[in-house]
Order: sequence, then C-alpha cells, then structure tokens
Amino acid sequence: MQLHDQQLINQQFINQQFINNEWVASAGTRMLDVMNPYSEARIAQVTAGDAADVDAAVQAAQQAQPAWQALGGAARAKYLDGFADALEARREALITLSATNNGKPLAEAGIDLDDAIACHRYYATQARALDARQGELVSVEMEGVEARTYHDPVGVVGLIAPWNFPLVTSAWKLAPALAAGCTAVLKPSEVTPLPELVLAEIALEIGLPAGVLNLLNGDGEGIGAPLSHHPGVDKISFTGSNRVGEIVMQAAAARTARVSLELGGKSPVLVVEDADPAQAADWVMAGIYFNAGQICSATSRLLVHENVAEALYAALAERMDALTLGDPLAEGTDLGPMTSAKQREAVQRYLDLAEQEGLTPVRDVTHRTLPAQGYFLAPTLYRDVPLESRLWQEEIFGPVLCARSVASEEEAIKLANDSPYGLAATVISGDPARAKRIGRQLKAGSIWYNSEQLVLPETAWGGFKRSGIGRELGPWGLSAYLEVKHIVGPA
Ligand code: NAD
Repeated sequence: MQLHDQQLINQQFINQQFINNEWVASAGTRMLDVMNPYSEARIAQVTAGDAADVDAAVQAAQQAQPAWQALGGAARAKYLDGFADALEARREALITLSATNNGKPLAEAGIDLDDAIACHRYYATQARALDARQGELVSVEMEGVEARTYHDPVGVVGLIAPWNFPLVTSAWKLAPALAAGCTAVLKPSEVTPLPELVLAEIALEIGLPAGVLNLLNGDGEGIGAPLSHHPGVDKISFTGSNRVGEIVMQAAAARTARVSLELGGKSPVLVVEDADPAQAADWVMAGIYFNAGQICSATSRLLVHENVAEALYAALAERMDALTLGDPLAEGTDLGPMTSAKQREAVQRYLDLAEQEGLTPVRDVTHRTLPAQGYFLAPTLYRDVPLESRLWQEEIFGPVLCARSVASEEEAIKLANDSPYGLAATVISGDPARAKRIGRQLKAGSIWYNSEQLVLPETAWGGFKRSGIGRELGPWGLSAYLEVKHIVGPA
C-alpha cells in the first residue's frame, strides 16, 4: 500500500472507524480497495464497515448533541474556523491526495480545497449570526400576545457523500450541520474515502468535543443503508445518484425523518445568436469537460442558435483538440482519467449507444490517442442529437457533450426545460440583460450567465424537479439543519 502523504493519513487507521474522537476497530469484516485511477493501482484499503459501526457512531452523536447545542453558535463557530485553518494548513498535501484518489487535475483539486475552506468559514459566520437570531420578536396582529422565533438543531444527522468532489460535498453538509448545533455521522464515498479522513485528524487537532463528528468508511450496503434506516438519525442529507437517493428517501420516510437530496442533472447551456462563438466555446468547455464531465451540474445539453452553431462547433473542436489528457499530478493536464473503472464503463456504454444510434460526432471517442494507463475517455461532442436519444435525455456523467441547434430563443427555453432534471443552466448572450431574462424562464436552481460555473458559499445549491429536494449553501443550507420553534404567550 502506498499513500501520497504518509504524514497526513496514517494508513493503520483505515481498517478502523472514527467514533467518539477515537479510532476504533470496525465491526466490518470486509475491506474495500481504494484505487488511483491514473496508475490503476490499489493505493489503500478501507473497511467496508457495518451496521454495528453505525449503531456506535449514532450513539456517540446522540450523547454529544445536547452539549454541542448548548455551546451556542459563537462557540461552535470557533471550531468551524478551526476546520478551515487546518484544511488551509494542509492545502497542498490535500490537493495532491484528492487528485490522486479522484483523478482530477491539480488545478481543479485546488478549486475544491478552496471551496471547502470557504464553506467552513462561511458557516462560522452563519453560526455567530444564529445567536442573534434566537428569540426574535414576531410582529403579530393579536393584541397582548408575545411570539418569539427560535431555531433549534434538527439533532443527529447522517451525511452521505459521493466521489466526484471529495471534501466539497462533505463540507457543504458538515459545516452547516455543525453550525446549527447538530452532531454528525459522515459517510464518504467508498471510491474516494481518503481525502475525508483528514476531517477526523482535524477534529482531534482542534479539540472538537467527542461524538460531534463521527466518520464511517464503507459502502452503501454496509454503512449507507443502516445509517438511512437508523431510528437515532433525525435527518439524512444525501448527495449522489437518483437511484440511491430514492432508496434513502424511502428509508427516511418510514420514520418521517427529514431528508435533503442533491441528485443528478442533465443541465442545458443556451448560446444565443448574439453570442461571440469563441468566448462561448470557453464557457461551454468548462461546463462539460471540468472533472472529466463528472459534475452533477455539467451542462451536457448544448442548445445553440442555428446562426452561430457552425462557428461554435468549430471553436469547440479546436479547443477539444488542444486539451491535454494525462497524469492528474502533472502541471498542464486539463483532463484526467474517469474516477473509476466502473464509471468509465458506464460512460462507454453511452458512447457505444451513440454509435448504434448513428449520432453525428463533431469529435467522437476515437479521435484521440489515450494515455497508455488510466481510466481515460476522450472528450466527445455529438451534434444534432435527436430529442428521443438516451444520450440527450439521461445523465451520462462523463466528458460527453450533446448539441442541437435551435431556430429561436423560445425553442431554446422550451427544450432547456424539457427534462426531468433541473439542477443548473448556463445562458450565453452578447446582451447580459437578455441572458438574465432567459435565465428567469429556466427551471433550475442555479443559472449562470456569461460565465463559467461560479459556485459561491453565499448562494444556494440544489435542484428543481428530480435533481433533488432542499438547498445547500447560503442561509438555506443552514436552515436545512434547523427546526423553527415559536414560543407564544401573554406579552
Ligand atoms: P451513488 O448514489 O452511487 O453513491 C452516493 C453515496 O451513497 C455513496 O457514499 C454510496 O456509498 C452511498 N450509497 C450507495 N448505496 C446506498 C444505499 N442503499 N443507502 C444509502 N447510501 C448508499 O452516487 P455516486 O456515483 O457516488 O455519485 C454520482 C451521482 O451523484 C451522480 O448522479 C451525480 O449527479 C450526483 N451528484 C449530485 C450532486 C448535487 O449536488 N446535486 C453533487 C455531486 C454528485
């Protein structure tokens, strides 16, 4: 076994679980391989964990919760700042670790790290502000009555994360949960469990009270399912696929537990006829080939006005040919491998289907010589994709862009909204006012105009329709971990 930073992650801990501020033997008897998707070598093993681990972690979280709540927002904020500082201190090592385990280029792993740090800092501020919001007077019509609003934590929360943005998707859950006064059981993805292990190390370093953060390694069967079903878990916050999100929601429904879901997408990018094709091409590229297309908000459906379609396709082809595929740890790499062999196969099935359906490639999967090692796929672009094609309709989660030309703004908006998903969209126009006006008509949680995908801790993240339930980030992300309570009586 070889890990990139032996100091950062002490590998003897990986067959253990982090419960009540201690690394304890996992009840699980299986081990899971953790791979480097570029070298295709096993770099670690983590315990598969099982229901007994979940019981112990939930019990620790339950015991810790009242005191953590009683500390108040300002005191909890200090720990959140502590997480941010400690992540920052390990920034370079974590970037390397994340790029190694996930396969994303260093520059992208750097963006992730900064996002996770900013998220912890933002929720430190929110935690402080929460104290001032407690007991706010409500203006009521009835005379002689006093009504005040309080915000209590939901309680013990189960946080389940995917593999595409290690440390980011977990930060978006953990930081607001802790700010709210909840205690947590965090389950990272078994595909990329290594970066999140640092959170346990930091918890010990900053003196986080025992039981506030418990971290369990394992797969869906061993940890995810028992966590979702556990009667001691008051809320599950899940990021991942629709298939599993629905299973998690059913488990939560059986005991009316709260649930937040961040699920899949098939987001559109609209390029209006007044857009500059060269500039638009840069933003379209960033929306689909970042993280090899393994982004829930990937703008994987391109709707371009027919007057600029040819120029845009040409600009995209030029940029695709210029992408450097290779070692995620090498400077200058634009596109790393897919994060797992399984994901590469899943995307390859769509590419095979594209061939069977006779889709028209601007660039197909064979146009590039791939690096000799690693789970690589060439970036692809198909044009004039039929609306009934599964490639147009389904989330592919890979570097596959499907395009159609449209004759009008109305047609673009109609097709953009013609999806069961509604996570995000991008609008590119020479006229920002027009782009914003179009954005107002799109059914999605995040709309960007004339930019790449700007993800800010202050603005909400979450989907319309089947892309999820609830919102992360911003004050909405904190509300997701709070119960509203009113105390009402004679003035
Ligand atoms: P996944 O659904 O396979 O797994 C997500 C997590 O759920 C993992 O930790 C997994 O171990 C766990 N899990 C698996 N089975 C479970 C079960 N029965 N009960 C409870 N937990 C279980 O998803 P993935 O492949 O890791 O991630 C890719 C998906 O995540 C894509 O669909 C993507 O769109 C989505 N995603 C969405 C967002 C968002 O913010 N909306 C962000 C990132 C990823």
